[in-house]
Amino acid sequence: MVLLGPPGAGKGTQAEVLSKELGIPHVSTGDMLREAVKKESPVGKEAKGYMNRGELVPDDVVIKIVSSRLTDDDLKKGFMLDGFPRTVNQADKLDASLEKSDKRLDMVLFFKTSPEVSVERLSGRRVCKKCGKNYHVKNMPPKKEGICNACGGEIIQRKDDSVETVKNRLVVYEKDTRALIDYYKKKGLLREVSGDLDVDGLFQNIKKLLEKENAL
Ligand code: AMP
Repeated sequence: MVLLGPPGAGKGTQAEVLSKELGIPHVSTGDMLREAVKKESPVGKEAKGYMNRGELVPDDVVIKIVSSRLTDDDLKKGFMLDGFPRTVNQADKLDASLEKSDKRLDMVLFFKTSPEVSVERLSGRRVCKKCGKNYHVKNMPPKKEGICNACGGEIIQRKDDSVETVKNRLVVYEKDTRALIDYYKKKGLLREVSGDLDVDGLFQNIKKLLEKENAL
């Protein structure tokens, strides 16, 4: 499954819950790249500037890390891709890579989200520095201010969630990623949910949709 939608659509939050419900791993290129930046690996060093500016990391870099992740044993029964593909070129490469290993996408879940909701979510988003768990200052605050419920780590704001960078990320989404809606519609894979709903409302809608598709 691919989760598609603008930044701030709630893909990461839903992926966490869905991954448990479906028993399939959540593969987030954003998380993988942030991990690489933290480790200061060659990929991380290359990606850092693009990420901080809210631009896309070059296709070849991202495709390489995803292709290598997709061959891991824990993904044999399926996976949920979050934040990939983000360009038509990445989608073509994903298709080719899946075909090679005799796999295919079952569904692309599109989170249709208004720009106002995206901006509100991203600017209020906070993340755990240690385990990456997402919070929101208003909608999903941690039990203890500044401390992660899950691991006790420090909660911070992502550099690319600043107002200026958020605006750029939304422009980049319109320019490079929106085309994937038609791309997957033509393949008959696109299913739509409203990303404007709150966490639980959205989860219930996704569950209903998956039940209808016999995916649960
Ligand atoms: P995310 O956590 O999905 O919002 O991703 C954070 C940042 O990582 C993005 O703004 C991009 O700079 C980079 N990134 C994540 N996934 C991709 C991708 N598929 N292609 C290019 N850049 C990506």
